[in-house]
Amino acid sequence: TREVQLASRPQGEPVAENFRLHESELPALLAGQILVRNTAMSVDPYMRGRMNDVKSYSPPFALNVALDGGAVGEVISSRSSAHQVGDVVLHSLGWRDYAVLADADARTVDPALAHPTAFLGALGMTGLTAYAGLTEVAAFKPGDTVFVSGAAGAVGSLVGQIAKNLGAARVIGSAGSAEKVARLLELGFDAAFNYHDGPVKDQLKAALGEASGIDVYFDNVGGDHLEAAISVLNRFGRVAMCGAISQYNSTAPVPGPANLALAIGKQLTLKGFIVGSYQHLAGEFATKMAGWLSDGTIRFDETFVHGLENAPQAFIDLLRGANTGKMVVVLD
Ligand code: NDP
Repeated sequence: TREVQLASRPQGEPVAENFRLHESELPALLAGQILVRNTAMSVDPYMRGRMNDVKSYSPPFALNVALDGGAVGEVISSRSSAHQVGDVVLHSLGWRDYAVLADADARTVDPALAHPTAFLGALGMTGLTAYAGLTEVAAFKPGDTVFVSGAAGAVGSLVGQIAKNLGAARVIGSAGSAEKVARLLELGFDAAFNYHDGPVKDQLKAALGEASGIDVYFDNVGGDHLEAAISVLNRFGRVAMCGAISQYNSTAPVPGPANLALAIGKQLTLKGFIVGSYQHLAGEFATKMAGWLSDGTIRFDETFVHGLENAPQAFIDLLRGANTGKMVVVLD
């Protein structure tokens, strides 16, 4: 069986040489274990942080062992009464063709509800991040004007559409290409801009339209996006600090927003969050998202890359913006 290992820690942008495809024998199943043939796996921006040897909310990846991350697959052998051969399961041992798991570490998903890759994206961790960040962390309320960065990505595209569904007055998104901007308008964003086209602050102001400012900023990017958002946030505005992808490959400390002190007079709330702390919303989220996907009020794009051997490049390309919606590696 094949697995992708971390061969060396990236300095700045990851390169192919940081990864290694390794072949090994599968161990025999112990009582309570299942063997899963992985059919798809997720590559996610947070994995970049785990490639550094620093303490964070999730432990760093070890060198010369398989990487891990979200995956779906089919149970092909079982020594557990909890999972039968043929079950489709979600688990966290991606980056390999086959996974040996304790039964408690795999969750059966219903392929009748959605295509299995949806459980890596809209119906999974990605979707819950968008829902929890918007509704609880940013305390969204109907009538709010919302700005989301990384808006054509997996989390961002859901944030904007959820906000519209919940009654946002105006939803603005930023993304890295004209094609992505066009897609955001198709998805129902009221305004969108390409952050490469000029200063974020100027483009964000222009995108406000009749709005006096924004009430919520869902930050996936950090840097100049966060600074621009602070400059146009209304009084009592809220920022859900979800990610800071503009600095994940940085090798030197990055400056903070130069205008942070505006948070005082405007009485802003800036709140960081990790989706794992919002499992109490998983139930209501799953019900609502399944409804929105089936009635078509939320659409979820996926960008597919095929083959485990191409997973490292898929990850590198994700950080460069090659994806629209969720980047998924299909394991054929
Ligand atoms: P995306 O699908 O959004 O993919 C990453 C995107 O980031 C790329 O497509 C690219 O799009 C954009 N990007 C890359 N570099 C830059 C840059 N310098 N400036 C602006 N945009 C850039 O990934 P996810 O939806 O999975 O994740 C989005 C964010 O949410 C990330 O910051 C991630 O770390 C965070 N996250 C946080 C979680 C939490 O619990 N707090 C959980 C899950 C995700 P473009 O072409 O537009 O540049």
